[in-house]
Amino acid sequence: MCDFLSKSLQKTRSIFKSKPPYPPAWPLQDEQHPKPQMNAQEQCPIFAKLSAELRVMVYEAVLIDSSRYLHICTNRRSKRERRGRRAVRSNAHFWCIEQDSPFPTWQHAGCYGEWLEPTPHYSTVHTRPITTTDDKILSLLITCRRVYSETLRILYSGNTFHFRGGPGLVAFTSSVSPSLWMSIRHVHISTQHLYSAPPWILNEWPPENPDTWATCCQKLQELPNLQSLTFDMTLKWREKLRACQLNYGLEAALLPLLGINAKSFIVEVDMSPSQEVRDALGHVNFVLVVKERPRTHPLYHHSPILDIGDYN
Ligand SMILES: [Zn+2]
Repeated sequence: MCDFLSKSLQKTRSIFKSKPPYPPAWPLQDEQHPKPQMNAQEQCPIFAKLSAELRVMVYEAVLIDSSRYLHICTNRRSKRERRGRRAVRSNAHFWCIEQDSPFPTWQHAGCYGEWLEPTPHYSTVHTRPITTTDDKILSLLITCRRVYSETLRILYSGNTFHFRGGPGLVAFTSSVSPSLWMSIRHVHISTQHLYSAPPWILNEWPPENPDTWATCCQKLQELPNLQSLTFDMTLKWREKLRACQLNYGLEAALLPLLGINAKSFIVEVDMSPSQEVRDALGHVNFVLVVKERPRTHPLYHHSPILDIGDYN
């Protein structure tokens, strides 16, 4: 009996000791990992009959939709994360279904799976815990390793990735390899800035926390081939704000953008910057557009603080 227990214990220990680290599959890793051998798939008509140029045209037709945003949604924390053990939260994509919405993009309630349930005495905000889609966008990629290797960067470089503020972007960069992040060429960010973020807001969003916003802008500076970068920013979050509050909010929002380079760089704000703010900014490398959208979707009027800012 003792012998049996001893052998069982040894076997259990060996399982834990010999368990190899599980590397991410190529090409999710970065370039320092060698490209593995792969079947040339020469019997497949896609490779046997189509030139590389034609294959790229097919891939782009299947994987790219430049008419709408590819929202990156941050899933809610797991029980383990809520108990305080930090982990990278998973992200999911969701093709925009509210491209014509008049509200700021971060208020695409349908895209982000948030809805209000009115009751006689109070309203309850519901949020989708996990984002799932049936768009089958990854179906082509997983047909074989060679197709995967040819298509992955087209998926990343051709679509417009939309992030909900700094927390959404920083969470995303924590979940993809640096080389895939560098492949992205089109980014849209929608967020809200407050003239001063109170301490209790540090782990929530909106509004932006200055530290997260700085990290977000640093991440955008890393992108070497940024073709289009667009922001829509809400600053007038209530009717009566003093000029100094508005100036402070605008400077906090815009100054960190100065180091970012993009071929087309547009920043939409809901108020015209004062001369004081323009002087503080100096020469800017973006086009500033003043546009007032309907300020608040009814859902976010009731619950403006969302649970997406606790990624770090
Ligand atoms: Zn949307």
